[in-house]
Amino acid sequence: MKKEKLKKWQELPIGGLILDMGNSSETQTGDWNPNRLVWNEDTCTHCLLCWINCPDASIKVEDSKVIGIDNYHCKVCGICVEVCPTKPKSLEIISEEVA
Ligand code: SF4
Ligand code: SF4
Repeated sequence: MKKEKLKKWQELPIGGLILDMGNSSETQTGDWNPNRLVWNEDTCTHCLLCWINCPDASIKVEDSKVIGIDNYHCKVCGICVEVCPTKPKSLEIISEEVA
């Protein structure tokens, strides 16, 4: 089989352009996961450890208190569950099938 001549980098089409800066919140990055994060308001002490550790800014906070989860962007990584100090945990990962 004849090997195709590789293009030089200057000949490659331009890709990966981000035309609108600061638009990440418009993309639903959490909709691929079959699991979902659930917050328990009754046991939460609003220590905000989950909020400060979340890599996706998916813990919704208002007036220094947790008010819910942004499930459109939460990737269910579980970091917030790990750091939550309450017993039982105030954050839980559940399967979407039983939600
Ligand atoms: S599971 Fe991960 S992405 Fe979702 S709220 Fe917790 S720390 Fe953030
Ligand atoms: S880490 Fe747990 S107790 Fe602290 S604010 Fe988050 S959910 Fe509430």
